[in-house]
Amino acid sequence: MSVDVKKISREGDWLEQSIIVLKGIGEKMLERFARRSLYTLNDLLFHLPIKYQDKTRIVPISSLRIGDSALVKGELIQCKTHFLRRAVLTCEINDGSGVISLRFFHFNKQQAAGLARALEQGKWLKCFGEIKRGRQSLEITHPEYRIVDQDQTIQVEETLTPIYPTTEGLSQLALRNAIRQVIEHLKQQVQQIETQPPNELVQDFLPPLIREDLQLPPLPEALIYLHAPPPDCPVFELIEGNDPYRQSLVFEELLAHQLSMKRAYQRQTQHYAYPLTKSTQSYSTEFLKQLPFQLTGAQSRVVADIASDISRSHPMQRLVQGDVGSGKTVVAALAALYTIENRFQAALMAPTELLAEQHRDNFQHWLEPLGLNVAWLSGKSKARQRKEALLSIADGSAQLIVGTHALFQDEVEFHQLGLVIIDEQHRFGVHQRLSLIQKGKKIHIDAEPQSNSNSKIKKDHQLKKVFYPHQLIMTATPIPRTLAMTAYADLDCSIIDELPPGRTPVETVVLSEQRRDDILQRVHQACLSGRQAYWVCTLIDESEVLQCQAAEQTYELLCRQLSDLPIGLVHGRMKPDEKKAVMQSFKRGEILLLIATTVIEVGVDVPNASLMIIENAERLGLSQLHQLRGRVGRGSQSSVCVLMYGSPLSKNGKARLMTLRETNDGFEVARKDLALRGPGEVLGTRQTGLAEMKIADIIRDQHLIPEVNALAQTLINDYPEVVEPIINRWIGKKMDYQNV
Ligand code: ADP
Ligand code: MG
Repeated sequence: MSVDVKKISREGDWLEQSIIVLKGIGEKMLERFARRSLYTLNDLLFHLPIKYQDKTRIVPISSLRIGDSALVKGELIQCKTHFLRRAVLTCEINDGSGVISLRFFHFNKQQAAGLARALEQGKWLKCFGEIKRGRQSLEITHPEYRIVDQDQTIQVEETLTPIYPTTEGLSQLALRNAIRQVIEHLKQQVQQIETQPPNELVQDFLPPLIREDLQLPPLPEALIYLHAPPPDCPVFELIEGNDPYRQSLVFEELLAHQLSMKRAYQRQTQHYAYPLTKSTQSYSTEFLKQLPFQLTGAQSRVVADIASDISRSHPMQRLVQGDVGSGKTVVAALAALYTIENRFQAALMAPTELLAEQHRDNFQHWLEPLGLNVAWLSGKSKARQRKEALLSIADGSAQLIVGTHALFQDEVEFHQLGLVIIDEQHRFGVHQRLSLIQKGKKIHIDAEPQSNSNSKIKKDHQLKKVFYPHQLIMTATPIPRTLAMTAYADLDCSIIDELPPGRTPVETVVLSEQRRDDILQRVHQACLSGRQAYWVCTLIDESEVLQCQAAEQTYELLCRQLSDLPIGLVHGRMKPDEKKAVMQSFKRGEILLLIATTVIEVGVDVPNASLMIIENAERLGLSQLHQLRGRVGRGSQSSVCVLMYGSPLSKNGKARLMTLRETNDGFEVARKDLALRGPGEVLGTRQTGLAEMKIADIIRDQHLIPEVNALAQTLINDYPEVVEPIINRWIGKKMDYQNV
């Protein structure tokens, strides 16, 4: 009998008790559990296994499958130690049905020798580990093992062994031991209080009608099942994450995220914004007149969405998704002009210097003929220019402000910011977006308070109104609809699903580096016949310095090899003036071949360029390659993109290159990218919340999303009191989107 007097109290909200009430948990453990934000019994209960090990049965060696983790028992038939860089001990065990090898690596001879003495031929071994393909037979590296008697009935576990997400210093054993106590307690309670609805034990925030309607099992039952799966449960389903209990909790977790984002959205809609309506001074009409083309149907539709949003007295929160080259910039320009017509400023923020510069040039070209001023702010602006820009932003003489992250620095003070436009949002964190919006915040005091209010507090409330700018967010990473429902639940979405007319799709060719000379000849001929080309240098290393060096070297090499061509070089470490000069002479057609780093990935727009070579394309991600490729195919002539790869080409690398060869469609590319890299990577920092879900997997579980989405709305409308508890349970207070 344990002398430990610790006990879980049954009184009150038992799940709110500290985990210190559990056996085996003292001050030191408390601190370790805290590293995973596990403080209360409730936290433990919702700390769900990420996978399971099956130690419930001994598997005959002949029926083992590669990739499974399994328990085997057999006789040691040989044991050898050899020395590579480390000592390696290999032994084989035979259970009558087959033979499997076990391999142990050691740093020194003594350890290996010690183990070799223990593992004598003829002894029987029980071991557990992941089955891999070995050189001659199947093998397990570093199995858990125990020496047993041949005839001894082997003790196996009664249930699947849960594997929990853990962290350094916090062992599976400690977690399992703690969680088992909570589950045991919960089981007892369920049995004892049979007369009471089990929902009382772990508070179920979902209204009973809804749970029944969706056929979700009772919460305590699902939790017990997942932490301690019964011996007869369908093992395979559980391991694959497809069983109904797990799915019901996945459903709740997705729901919590959806609620959190929808609530953030709703809070914004309760803010005020200045309505921007049609005005007599119509810059936008003039702008459209001078454009050398007509808007596409999709562009007009999205512009109409925006116009309707900003005419309301709540801030717009609209995301425009459109593939590379779909013409998002013109849409942004129109939104900016509507704002300026209403005597407000618009600010456009872009993630890279080069893209911001392109926008600045474009917008100057479009807006200055209308008598409007464009201010420019970047981290690299010189002190004097910066001062001038800041002044024109503060006194309102600049109507449009273009820049990089420099826009939300402290010294920047807007005169009247009506609209914030963010290009390529996946490159920014949500913090950066929100800090720009905070900058545009204006507190408006009503001159004539309503006289009929008698409470002072109420009066103060009415006096003060906070106004926020409208927000327009643009992205060239279009994602499938169900995913957008989750990832962008805090935004309204419009899609530009049509490319400007007259584009010919880019033909993509995948070639080995060994064909470099051929490629060089082709580029040479194409340029001599008046076409323009990009030559993009990549590096695995993210370091900008190294990337630029690589581009410089390629530049020198190509200058020598193609000495009769005008060649230019652009990379991120050049001075802004130099960069600008090179880009402009490329635009004017004076430079025919432009050597570049991936800085040209976003935004660069030179319609005459129709050839792109990407060196070591296998090093880049799918969406990055798609973006790069989007730099060509902007004019009317047919374009080619050559993806050059170095060998060996990994399986994943090959999959990426083949996808690009097969499709030009950004949605298709995004779908593939999600499958290969997962949502956390693809959607960028903004979506860390989604990437860190406990048990839901947004790709595997996307079939649940439409239902989750609908239910989230129902809860917000009809059961607002459960919203907060559900968010807190799954996301916790600190991760909630409202606080970022
Ligand atoms: P992205 O959506 O990738 O930001 P851009 O706004 O840079 O695309 O537009 C790509 C190119 O298409 C630019 O040269 C732009 O002038 C041109 N463009 C945009 N809209 C149209 C249109 N409706 N008709 C013809 N060309 C257009
Ligand atoms: Mg763009």
